[in-house]
Amino acid sequence: MENLQTLADEIHAELSAREDRGRVADYIPQLATVSAQKFGIAIAPLDGPVAVAGDADEAFSIQSISKLFTLTLALGQVGDRVWDRVGREPSGNAFNSIVQLEHEQGRPRNPFVNAGAIAVTDIILGGHRPKEALGEILRFVRFLADDDAINIDRLVAQSEQAHGDRNLALAHFMKSFGVIKHPPAEVLGVYFHQCAIAMSCRQLAQAGLFLAANGRNPRTGFNVVSARRARRINALMMTCGHYDGAGDFAFRVGLPGKSGVGGGILVIVPHRAVVAVWSPGLDANGNSLLGTAALELLVQRTGWSVFG
Ligand code: GLN
Repeated sequence: MENLQTLADEIHAELSAREDRGRVADYIPQLATVSAQKFGIAIAPLDGPVAVAGDADEAFSIQSISKLFTLTLALGQVGDRVWDRVGREPSGNAFNSIVQLEHEQGRPRNPFVNAGAIAVTDIILGGHRPKEALGEILRFVRFLADDDAINIDRLVAQSEQAHGDRNLALAHFMKSFGVIKHPPAEVLGVYFHQCAIAMSCRQLAQAGLFLAANGRNPRTGFNVVSARRARRINALMMTCGHYDGAGDFAFRVGLPGKSGVGGGILVIVPHRAVVAVWSPGLDANGNSLLGTAALELLVQRTGWSVFG
């Protein structure tokens, strides 16, 4: 294996010149203020220093990558009862699709489409007030990344809140089936803020380490989840982490990954490393275009695909 720093530098140098970067999300207006030229990569091995290149230390909106952290938190709180409310199958539909919900009696296909993530946030709300639930999520992410500087970008949260009608519709629809228990406005208040957590590639890579190491963060020594739960979360990331682009991502990259419309992607290389990339331009499925290309290149160079 070549040196990880050299690898990060090479991938950054090769892809920075690309002009075709997709479209920056603008359905949340505040996200559209970010430059499409941003590009960062962080490779965190289980032991040894994190290799970074480009804008890897600049915080960006993690958006749907937060769904990975809230799922882990909810599983810790109520265990397998999460699956009473949310399925575990790929959706083959857009992340914010509403049609499938009607066919399936308001039960979301998986915890990574918006409907499923909103149901997971409803579970975390449990007996809490929204502020407490949000505090719990933020503390958990800081604990995972071992970094108390991580915060929420209030402007992004407000921007999504002001344009969140589709998510509100999803929440109301699920409530009518009893899949969510709290008032939709409360659940979404938490959800929009969790999506607006801002993290850098370096922080994200650190936060994902437990998933590459049998559930234990190798840097802090904390057991976050059991080895079995880590394996299962990785399986869900592989099958559902990129929505209707999950099959193509498995084909091209072959690693469990979670994307967000802020342009970040977090991938797990079981027993080896965690990689986070960021480039705000998105493809038609809402996944980072340059980020996916960077991960494809990384896997070609390292042979890290789980498919051999
Ligand atoms: N906050 C975004 C939304 O709910 C998250 C979507 C995403 O990152 N795919 O639409």
